[in-house]
Amino acid sequence: MARTVEIPDYEIQDDVVLDPERTALVVVDMQNDFVKEGGALVVPGAEATVPRIAELLELARSSGMRVVFTQDTHGDDDPEFRIWGEHVRRGTWGWEIVEELAPRPDELVIEKVRYDAFYGTHLDHQLRQWGVDTLVLCGTVANICVHYTAASAALRWYHVIIPHDAVSALHDFDLESSLRQTAFLFNGTITTVGALRAA
Ligand code: ZN
Repeated sequence: MARTVEIPDYEIQDDVVLDPERTALVVVDMQNDFVKEGGALVVPGAEATVPRIAELLELARSSGMRVVFTQDTHGDDDPEFRIWGEHVRRGTWGWEIVEELAPRPDELVIEKVRYDAFYGTHLDHQLRQWGVDTLVLCGTVANICVHYTAASAALRWYHVIIPHDAVSALHDFDLESSLRQTAFLFNGTITTVGALRAA
């Protein structure tokens, strides 16, 4: 039976200044299977975030911030298929990042096998090489791959910033509980796309 709970207040910052030298924009799993009609695991609301994420890319690229894309990637008989069914099988249309947000050749694409983009990848190494200490996270799913990447980043002492209008989830509850955890537990910043600007 569904229960009603109150969402504890968390602050939504209305002016966030970013140092482009030390900030990376991380676009999480904006792949056809999660975003586009006909995809294997479509997240309602993901497509509506595409223009917001395009704005973030414009801000990052025009100010010289690093840009990272994560790409959920599975092969044959991946254990995740037992949880979610088949999705983002390498080389398929569903695996590709949506064309509106296509990475540029000089931007890092991290193929990841689990929710956390740090798990089993060289993401942390690359961010440290760049001298990045702040991550702006966007994409989908807010309480799954965005959340576990935010958690993993925060545990490594990166500052995590999430514009809530640039993430999406399967249920409002999941989205809200994830944002609250980021604000409260990870000491992160919740904001909006329009509130972000480069120093
Ligand atoms: Zn997956």
